[in-house]
Amino acid sequence: MFLKGKSALVTGSTSGIGLEYATLLAAEGANVMLNGFGDADAIEKTRRGLEGHGGRALYNGADLTKVDAIEGLVAETADAFGGVDILINNAGMQHVAPVDEFPVEKWDLIIALNLSAAFHTIRLALPHMKAKGWGRIINTASAHSLVASPNKSAYVAAKHGIAGLTKTVALEAATSGVTVNCISPGYVWTPLVENQIPDTMKARGLTRDQVMNDVLLAAQPTKQFVTVEQVAALALFLCRDEAAAITGANLSMDGGWTAQ
Ligand code: NAD
Repeated sequence: MFLKGKSALVTGSTSGIGLEYATLLAAEGANVMLNGFGDADAIEKTRRGLEGHGGRALYNGADLTKVDAIEGLVAETADAFGGVDILINNAGMQHVAPVDEFPVEKWDLIIALNLSAAFHTIRLALPHMKAKGWGRIINTASAHSLVASPNKSAYVAAKHGIAGLTKTVALEAATSGVTVNCISPGYVWTPLVENQIPDTMKARGLTRDQVMNDVLLAAQPTKQFVTVEQVAALALFLCRDEAAAITGANLSMDGGWTAQ
């Protein structure tokens, strides 16, 4: 229970990778603020499950494309738990289309959610961390923070942006006891990946099996999806004192994808 007494805000934690981050943090005793969309009963069940570990768990369904909602989310976390010690920027979405057909409103949404939301949570949470002389900021980036794939212009631009934001804030916070890193998974089997299969089938004229094997896992030399448990375990390690010297890093967990 090395996080007993610490508080964590995990954006996009009602599903996929974010849910696993929240689960592991709560299992180590942290108070956790859940965020994201989904079925109210399922979210309440998750929230109660997290409290079973002894810490507190709250839920705020802020839409992170809205700045005032983000301000409310960070303020509620800090008020309820006496600060924000661990911030995990994880909420994200994808849209697959060639750049000259890319819907403008989808571009704006993806940049707002996958990039600007992290700027806002960081600018609002960092003063709480500096005041305590300890903090952990972890951004879920992607292999797409390092390399591109066709038809994902907004996502790749946002993820390259989050990698740059991570480095910049790490330098600014370097002497304050706050570390700032991003984790860059390859393909992780979550609803986000499952939901982009139909669009990729359409964009490239492929079958479901072809998209799975020839598009998604084509880039991943291990030919295995990364698991949410593997990603969350790395985030948990970054919260340990042994990880205090890891800052400004972009940590790949992509089955060898970006080694190519
Ligand atoms: P997911 O779709 O399972 O979860 C996304 C979460 O974000 C959900 O909780 C959802 O409710 C929330 N969300 C969506 N729109 C929101 C909004 N406007 N405001 C607040 N919350 C919102 O996806 P995932 O695969 O777990 O992805 C999590 C993160 O990991 C994303 O940033 C994604 O880009 C990144 N990532 C995923 C993979 C992968 O293969 N799954 C690979 C690399 C990086």
